[in-house]
Amino acid sequence: KDFEGSGLHKLLLRNVALSGYKKPTPVQRHAIPTVMARRDLMSCAQTGSGKTAAFLLPVLHQMLLMGGPAPPPPSSMSGGGGGSFGSRMRRSHPTYLILAPTRELASQIFSECKKFCHATSIRAAVIYGGSENTREQLRAVENGVDVVVATPGRLLDFIDRGRISLANVQFLTLDEADRMLDMGFEPQIRQIVEGSDMRPAGQRQTLMFSATFPREIQRLAADFLHAYIFLTV
Ligand code: AMP
Repeated sequence: KDFEGSGLHKLLLRNVALSGYKKPTPVQRHAIPTVMARRDLMSCAQTGSGKTAAFLLPVLHQMLLMGGPAPPPPSSMSGGGGGSFGSRMRRSHPTYLILAPTRELASQIFSECKKFCHATSIRAAVIYGGSENTREQLRAVENGVDVVVATPGRLLDFIDRGRISLANVQFLTLDEADRMLDMGFEPQIRQIVEGSDMRPAGQRQTLMFSATFPREIQRLAADFLHAYIFLTV
Protein backbone atom coordinates (compact mmCIF):
# COMPACT_ATOMS: atom_id res chain seq x y z
CA LYS A 1 0.00 0.00 0.00
CA ASP A 2 1.17 3.51 -0.79
CA PHE A 3 0.31 6.99 0.47
CA GLU A 4 -2.09 7.56 -2.45
CA GLY A 5 -4.38 4.81 -1.18
CA SER A 6 -4.41 6.12 2.39
CA GLY A 7 -7.24 8.58 1.90
CA LEU A 8 -5.13 11.47 3.18
CA HIS A 9 -6.10 14.97 2.01
CA LYS A 10 -4.70 15.74 -1.43
CA LEU A 11 -2.69 18.73 -0.19
CA LEU A 12 -0.94 16.38 2.24
CA LEU A 13 -0.35 13.77 -0.46
CA ARG A 14 1.29 16.44 -2.57
CA ASN A 15 3.52 17.56 0.31
CA VAL A 16 4.40 13.94 1.13
CA ALA A 17 5.45 13.49 -2.51
CA LEU A 18 7.45 16.74 -2.38
CA SER A 19 9.22 15.32 0.70
CA GLY A 20 10.31 12.40 -1.44
CA TYR A 21 8.46 9.79 0.62
CA LYS A 22 7.42 6.98 -1.70
CA LYS A 23 6.07 4.31 0.64
CA PRO A 24 4.75 4.53 4.21
CA THR A 25 7.00 2.98 6.85
CA PRO A 26 5.44 0.22 9.03
CA VAL A 27 4.46 2.59 11.84
CA GLN A 28 2.92 4.96 9.29
CA ARG A 29 1.05 2.13 7.56
CA HIS A 30 -0.66 1.18 10.81
CA ALA A 31 -0.93 4.48 12.66
CA ILE A 32 -2.33 6.61 9.82
CA PRO A 33 -5.62 4.70 9.37
CA THR A 34 -6.00 4.24 13.14
CA VAL A 35 -5.64 7.97 13.79
CA MET A 36 -7.84 8.87 10.82
CA ALA A 37 -10.48 6.63 12.44
CA ARG A 38 -10.21 8.95 15.47
CA ARG A 39 -8.84 6.35 17.86
CA ASP A 40 -6.38 7.12 20.62
CA LEU A 41 -3.03 5.42 20.08
CA MET A 42 -0.13 4.13 22.17
CA SER A 43 2.74 3.27 19.87
CA CYS A 44 6.11 1.79 20.67
CA ALA A 45 8.32 3.15 17.90
CA GLN A 46 11.98 4.05 17.70
CA THR A 47 13.59 7.16 16.29
CA GLY A 48 14.05 6.61 12.58
CA SER A 49 10.83 4.60 12.24
CA GLY A 50 9.00 7.49 10.60
CA LYS A 51 6.87 8.09 13.72
CA THR A 52 6.80 11.86 13.18
CA ALA A 53 4.86 11.62 9.92
CA ALA A 54 2.78 8.83 11.50
CA PHE A 55 1.29 11.27 14.01
CA LEU A 56 1.43 14.48 11.95
CA LEU A 57 -0.23 13.36 8.72
CA PRO A 58 -3.50 11.88 10.05
CA VAL A 59 -4.04 14.78 12.47
CA LEU A 60 -3.31 17.44 9.83
CA HIS A 61 -5.71 15.51 7.60
CA GLN A 62 -8.49 15.86 10.18
CA MET A 63 -7.67 19.54 10.67
CA LEU A 64 -7.94 20.16 6.93
CA LEU A 65 -11.30 18.35 6.84
CA MET A 66 -12.54 20.54 9.69
CA GLY A 67 -12.36 23.32 7.14
CA GLY A 68 -9.67 25.50 8.54
CA PRO A 69 -9.06 26.98 11.93
CA ALA A 70 -12.03 27.98 14.05
CA PRO A 71 -12.23 31.65 15.02
CA PRO A 72 -10.75 32.22 18.46
CA PRO A 73 -13.19 32.57 21.34
CA PRO A 74 -13.90 36.15 22.52
CA SER A 75 -11.64 35.72 25.53
CA SER A 76 -8.60 35.56 23.26
CA MET A 77 -8.12 39.31 23.47
CA SER A 78 -7.13 39.88 27.02
CA GLY A 79 -6.31 43.41 27.99
CA GLY A 80 -3.41 43.25 30.35
CA GLY A 81 -4.11 39.71 31.54
CA GLY A 82 -1.30 37.28 32.25
CA GLY A 83 1.04 39.97 33.46
CA SER A 84 1.39 42.02 30.30
CA PHE A 85 0.87 45.64 31.17
CA GLY A 86 -0.59 48.05 28.66
CA SER A 87 -0.36 45.74 25.66
CA ARG A 88 -3.28 44.21 23.84
CA MET A 89 -2.09 40.67 24.12
CA ARG A 90 -3.34 37.95 21.84
CA ARG A 91 -3.63 34.48 23.19
CA SER A 92 -3.15 31.52 20.87
CA HIS A 93 -5.67 28.66 20.99
CA PRO A 94 -3.94 25.80 19.14
CA THR A 95 -5.97 22.84 17.91
CA TYR A 96 -3.02 20.44 17.94
CA LEU A 97 -0.41 20.25 20.71
CA ILE A 98 2.72 18.13 20.38
CA LEU A 99 4.99 17.65 23.40
CA ALA A 100 8.61 16.59 22.96
CA PRO A 101 11.47 16.18 25.45
CA THR A 102 14.18 18.34 23.83
CA ARG A 103 14.57 21.38 21.65
CA GLU A 104 16.28 19.21 19.01
CA LEU A 105 13.35 16.84 18.74
CA ALA A 106 10.81 19.70 18.89
CA SER A 107 12.67 21.47 16.06
CA GLN A 108 12.72 18.31 13.95
CA ILE A 109 8.99 17.77 14.45
CA PHE A 110 8.33 21.43 13.63
CA SER A 111 10.33 21.28 10.41
CA GLU A 112 8.50 18.11 9.30
CA CYS A 113 5.20 19.80 10.19
CA LYS A 114 6.06 22.89 8.13
CA LYS A 115 6.78 20.68 5.10
CA PHE A 116 3.41 18.97 5.42
CA CYS A 117 1.54 22.27 6.00
CA HIS A 118 3.00 23.86 2.87
CA ALA A 119 0.24 25.55 0.83
CA THR A 120 -2.39 24.87 3.50
CA SER A 121 -3.92 27.39 5.90
CA ILE A 122 -2.51 25.56 8.93
CA ARG A 123 -0.07 27.66 10.96
CA ALA A 124 2.52 26.01 13.20
CA ALA A 125 4.99 27.24 15.80
CA VAL A 126 7.68 25.69 17.96
CA ILE A 127 8.49 26.76 21.51
CA TYR A 128 11.35 25.42 23.62
CA GLY A 129 13.58 26.51 26.47
CA GLY A 130 16.58 28.79 26.16
CA SER A 131 16.46 32.48 26.92
CA GLU A 132 17.71 33.96 23.66
CA ASN A 133 14.72 32.96 21.57
CA THR A 134 11.79 33.79 23.86
CA ARG A 135 10.88 37.01 22.05
CA GLU A 136 10.90 35.32 18.65
CA GLN A 137 8.74 32.46 19.91
CA LEU A 138 6.30 34.89 21.53
CA ARG A 139 5.99 36.70 18.21
CA ALA A 140 5.35 33.39 16.44
CA VAL A 141 2.35 32.58 18.64
CA GLU A 142 1.12 36.17 18.87
CA ASN A 143 -1.09 36.06 15.81
CA GLY A 144 -2.56 32.67 16.53
CA VAL A 145 -1.31 29.21 15.62
CA ASP A 146 -3.07 25.95 14.94
CA VAL A 147 -0.22 23.56 15.78
CA VAL A 148 2.18 24.07 18.67
CA VAL A 149 5.25 21.85 19.09
CA ALA A 150 6.66 22.42 22.56
CA THR A 151 8.94 21.25 25.32
CA PRO A 152 6.95 21.01 28.58
CA GLY A 153 8.68 23.71 30.66
CA ARG A 154 8.52 26.41 28.03
CA LEU A 155 4.89 25.61 27.22
CA LEU A 156 3.94 26.05 30.91
CA ASP A 157 5.79 29.37 30.88
CA PHE A 158 3.73 30.54 27.88
CA ILE A 159 0.52 29.35 29.54
CA ASP A 160 1.45 31.27 32.72
CA ARG A 161 2.16 34.39 30.66
CA GLY A 162 -1.32 34.06 29.17
CA ARG A 163 0.03 33.62 25.65
CA ILE A 164 -1.35 30.15 25.01
CA SER A 165 -4.61 28.54 26.05
CA LEU A 166 -5.15 24.81 25.64
CA ALA A 167 -8.95 25.11 25.70
CA ASN A 168 -9.24 24.35 21.97
CA VAL A 169 -6.80 21.43 21.85
CA GLN A 170 -8.53 18.59 20.03
CA PHE A 171 -5.39 16.61 19.25
CA LEU A 172 -2.55 15.88 21.66
CA THR A 173 0.67 13.98 20.94
CA LEU A 174 3.36 13.01 23.43
CA ASP A 175 6.47 12.07 21.49
CA GLU A 176 9.28 10.09 23.14
CA ALA A 177 7.23 9.88 26.31
CA ASP A 178 9.78 7.61 28.01
CA ARG A 179 12.51 10.17 27.47
CA MET A 180 10.30 12.94 28.87
CA LEU A 181 9.81 10.88 32.03
CA ASP A 182 13.55 10.06 32.21
CA MET A 183 14.23 13.79 32.10
CA GLY A 184 11.90 14.36 35.04
CA PHE A 185 9.11 16.07 33.11
CA GLU A 186 6.24 14.04 34.57
CA PRO A 187 4.97 16.83 36.88
CA GLN A 188 5.07 19.34 34.02
CA ILE A 189 3.34 16.93 31.63
CA ARG A 190 0.62 16.22 34.16
CA GLN A 191 0.21 19.93 34.82
CA ILE A 192 -0.26 20.51 31.08
CA VAL A 193 -2.57 17.58 30.41
CA GLU A 194 -4.50 17.35 33.69
CA GLY A 195 -4.04 20.72 35.35
CA SER A 196 -4.78 23.12 32.49
CA ASP A 197 -7.90 24.13 30.59
CA MET A 198 -7.36 21.26 28.13
CA ARG A 199 -10.39 19.07 27.59
CA PRO A 200 -10.20 15.59 29.18
CA ALA A 201 -9.30 12.26 27.56
CA GLY A 202 -12.14 11.02 25.40
CA GLN A 203 -13.02 14.58 24.36
CA ARG A 204 -9.71 15.02 22.57
CA GLN A 205 -7.67 12.57 20.50
CA THR A 206 -4.42 11.56 22.19
CA LEU A 207 -1.42 9.82 20.62
CA MET A 208 1.53 8.62 22.69
CA PHE A 209 4.84 7.45 21.26
CA SER A 210 7.55 5.81 23.31
CA ALA A 211 10.53 3.62 22.52
CA THR A 212 9.86 1.52 25.63
CA PHE A 213 6.75 0.60 27.59
CA PRO A 214 7.71 0.42 31.28
CA ARG A 215 5.21 0.66 34.12
CA GLU A 216 5.40 4.47 34.31
CA ILE A 217 4.48 4.81 30.64
CA GLN A 218 1.68 2.29 31.06
CA ARG A 219 0.31 4.44 33.89
CA LEU A 220 0.58 7.61 31.80
CA ALA A 221 -1.20 5.86 28.93
CA ALA A 222 -3.97 4.71 31.26
CA ASP A 223 -4.41 8.28 32.53
CA PHE A 224 -4.11 10.20 29.25
CA LEU A 225 -5.61 7.87 26.64
CA HIS A 226 -9.18 6.77 26.07
CA ALA A 227 -9.93 3.24 24.77
CA TYR A 228 -6.63 3.23 22.95
CA ILE A 229 -5.12 1.06 20.25
CA PHE A 230 -1.71 -0.38 21.13
CA LEU A 231 0.71 -0.50 18.24
CA THR A 232 4.21 -1.92 18.33
CA VAL A 233 6.37 -2.10 15.24
P1 AMP B 1 11.36 9.84 12.32
O1 AMP B 1 11.40 8.44 12.86
O2 AMP B 1 9.96 10.42 12.27
O3 AMP B 1 12.31 10.76 13.04
O4 AMP B 1 11.83 9.80 10.78
C1 AMP B 1 13.12 9.36 10.44
C2 AMP B 1 13.53 9.86 9.05
O5 AMP B 1 12.83 9.18 8.03
C3 AMP B 1 13.25 11.34 8.82
O6 AMP B 1 14.38 11.89 8.21
C4 AMP B 1 12.07 11.36 7.89
O7 AMP B 1 12.11 12.51 7.07
C5 AMP B 1 12.25 10.08 7.10
N1 AMP B 1 10.97 9.48 6.66
C6 AMP B 1 9.83 9.40 7.38
N2 AMP B 1 8.87 8.74 6.69
C7 AMP B 1 9.41 8.38 5.51
C8 AMP B 1 8.93 7.66 4.37
N3 AMP B 1 7.68 7.18 4.32
N4 AMP B 1 9.76 7.47 3.32
C9 AMP B 1 11.02 7.96 3.36
N5 AMP B 1 11.55 8.65 4.41
C10 AMP B 1 10.76 8.85 5.48
